Amino acid sequence: MHTEDYYQIKESLQQNNVKLIAISKTKPVEAIQNYYDIGQRIFGENRAREMQSKHDFLPKDIEWHMVGHMQTNKVKYIAPFVSLIHSIDSLNLLIEVDKRAKQNNRSIDVLLQMHIAKEENKFGFTLEEVKELFDNKRFVALTNIRVRGLMGMATFTNDQDQIRKEFRLLSTYFQDLKTSYFSTQDSFSERSMGMSGDYKIAIEEGSTMVRIGSLLFGKRSYK
Ligand SMILES: *Cc1c(COP(=O)(O)O)cnc(C)c1O
Repeated sequence: MHTEDYYQIKESLQQNNVKLIAISKTKPVEAIQNYYDIGQRIFGENRAREMQSKHDFLPKDIEWHMVGHMQTNKVKYIAPFVSLIHSIDSLNLLIEVDKRAKQNNRSIDVLLQMHIAKEENKFGFTLEEVKELFDNKRFVALTNIRVRGLMGMATFTNDQDQIRKEFRLLSTYFQDLKTSYFSTQDSFSERSMGMSGDYKIAIEEGSTMVRIGSLLFGKRSYK
């Protein structure tokens, strides 16, 4: 456990009003409980079944965030309790989330994942695709999802300028969509960007949520 790092990260985030999502994927429930015990309440996972089984074991006031690419057939495992899905990358996935939210008598908050990196293999929408989505009747008909903002992952590189450019692009997309599709009071307000290696740059570029794993939990044995 990296308690000192945790307090330092928390302090720098609080100054900027940025939320900390502690990414606990692959880590055991004991490691999560340790951070819970010093006050952390938001945890992120990238696999639905893993999140479901951890949710079963851990205190019920934890906010669970899904950050990994999701297949539609896995949504049902987390729909009863998930707080925010960061990784929405298709209309079909949104339709499934809406359906499962209805079945659970609730509304589910989501972020749209934007493709901002140079790498081809990363998931996400282009700005044009999001505009098409917002104009699509099938999207407009969804009643039990709430789009709270955007998520993006920068290119895996040491080039700080490149990373900064990509985060800045995400903020530009956010402003464009906010102006064109939402009123100022609307809850479309979040920019989920920044991980262990680049969260400081992300904050400078307008992040409202950072997703930090290895700085808190140490290296992972896979992914
Ligand atoms: C694993 C993961 C993170 C955390 O990465 P670290 O570099 O360990 O901080 C953040 N976001 C997503 C989408 C992830 O899959």
